[in-house]
Amino acid sequence: MTGKVWLVGAGPGDPELLTVKGLNCLRKAEAVVFDRLVNPQLLQEAPADCEFHDVGKEANCHPIPQPQINQILIDCARRGLNVVRLKGGDPFVFGRGSEELLALREQGLAVEVVPGITSAIGGLAAAGIPVTHRHCASSFHVVTGHLQEGKEPQDWQKLAGLSGTLVILMGMSQIRTICAALLDAGKAANTPAAVVMRASTPHQQVVSAPLSQLAEKSEAAGFHAPALIVIGEVVSLREILAFSRSA
Ligand code: SAH
Repeated sequence: MTGKVWLVGAGPGDPELLTVKGLNCLRKAEAVVFDRLVNPQLLQEAPADCEFHDVGKEANCHPIPQPQINQILIDCARRGLNVVRLKGGDPFVFGRGSEELLALREQGLAVEVVPGITSAIGGLAAAGIPVTHRHCASSFHVVTGHLQEGKEPQDWQKLAGLSGTLVILMGMSQIRTICAALLDAGKAANTPAAVVMRASTPHQQVVSAPLSQLAEKSEAAGFHAPALIVIGEVVSLREILAFSRSA
């Protein structure tokens, strides 16, 4: 009998932001294959005799290549195990979850997806920033700051022209370039903006500034990945809405 793989979203960081369905999968897992962004506390929910595969490690600074991760999943399922592939946030938001799903399906293996709370929405909420607000943002746009090599860069010109909230994932190494490109494209210098680092965890930190000062302030504060860059009027609501985490 072959096993089955559940592609589970672990949520943005706070272990309590895992779904009930995800937790149930984890509790009956025989193998867990997890990423760097997954809160290690969640692994304690899996049975003690479960296999753990850490595929978020960077051997000599090189991340484990995707085909190798796919192969680990395939091998575990072929050995008849209940496999939980635990991924940060939602598995289909820039997480290469769909590639893993395809690789498993191509081998005729059973896969199920358990969505998670994406950091793009839940991570902002943890910092008191609503991704939309009736009076100032009627859309939101989630983009990656880091594109596959050889791909066209993001069209910052077009993105600058949208009035909704702009959320940039994986953008920290490019924050200066991204902010400059948006300003060049005509985005107002005083547009409220923020960087939320390690959102929804006890280490969460937020820096907020007008767009024209965001990169400088974030760099001065030593902000780094994982972090969300958010640009739009909704950021100004943070002052009113920010709440402290319950214990
Ligand atoms: N599937 C994930 C995103 C994977 S891409 C999701 O739905 O959230 C990885 C990027 O997500 C990071 O570089 C960062 O931009 C963002 N991210 C994930 N978790 C985060 C967190 N706790 N705090 C801030 N940013 C986070």
